[in-house]
Amino acid sequence: MHPAAARPCIGKHAALGSQSVSLVIRAHGTRHHLHRQAHIQVCRASGQAYLFSSRAIQGPIATKIRSMSSTTNFPDQLLARNADWASAVATKEPELLKSSAAGQAPKVLWIGCADSRVPESVVCDAKPGEVFVTRNIANQFNPQDDNAVSVLTYGVQALGVEHVVVVGHTSCGGVNAAIAAASSAADGKKTESPLSRYLTPLVQLAGRVQTECSSLSGPELANQVLEASVKQQVENVVQTDVIQSNWKGEVSPLSNKVMSKVAVHGWIYDVASGKLKHVITKNPV
Ligand SMILES: [Zn+2]
Repeated sequence: MHPAAARPCIGKHAALGSQSVSLVIRAHGTRHHLHRQAHIQVCRASGQAYLFSSRAIQGPIATKIRSMSSTTNFPDQLLARNADWASAVATKEPELLKSSAAGQAPKVLWIGCADSRVPESVVCDAKPGEVFVTRNIANQFNPQDDNAVSVLTYGVQALGVEHVVVVGHTSCGGVNAAIAAASSAADGKKTESPLSRYLTPLVQLAGRVQTECSSLSGPELANQVLEASVKQQVENVVQTDVIQSNWKGEVSPLSNKVMSKVAVHGWIYDVASGKLKHVITKNPV
């Protein structure tokens, strides 16, 4: 599609900010008259108008508009979608924004993969304030990782989360890279990079699984490594001083209170079905 044709024609009604206008959309030489009012967002930086998730426009024309919009600057689209979302929430659930501004009290800490296909709040239909989150390559919890331990510490000792969930997922690039690196290491090859250093514990785990399950390969091997990794990260979380002192009922140094005892769970998300499955739970002892 030619870039000029990809731009919704918004006429002279467009101005900065959100507004409702009557639209005439031209694409591929076809003129679509939209008889109802449509909500648009105009990017303050570029002046480009975007039309997303308009409740006034349904069906094939909505699909066409979205496909046209996909040819424009994506960060601007995200800003426009956010403005749309914020105004919808302010209208339908104003108390949600009010409670968000007052503070957070999430019950769950989610330790997930950075993969774009596993956004925790989307796949769990969760609202802002419900899930405390840290995500990294292949959902690792390394006790030497100050970032991961800091998130756990704050979540448990300051926010009082009652559950920690480590969430792996099928088709994980980190797991596949670790399996490939374990095979290379077995062949005497070694690479040095921040990513390979970071993945070292997972590469070692993948090597152990490969040895124990030598009949497996491809997705079966990847799923075996994935499940073993999720169980290992759950164990790594359980063994931290943060969880051990929580389970002993010690006073939290961050809140000066005895916090709720935390259960640690391992889950796997199937990217093909969109479903989470339970793998393991470690309860307070
Ligand atoms: Zn992943």
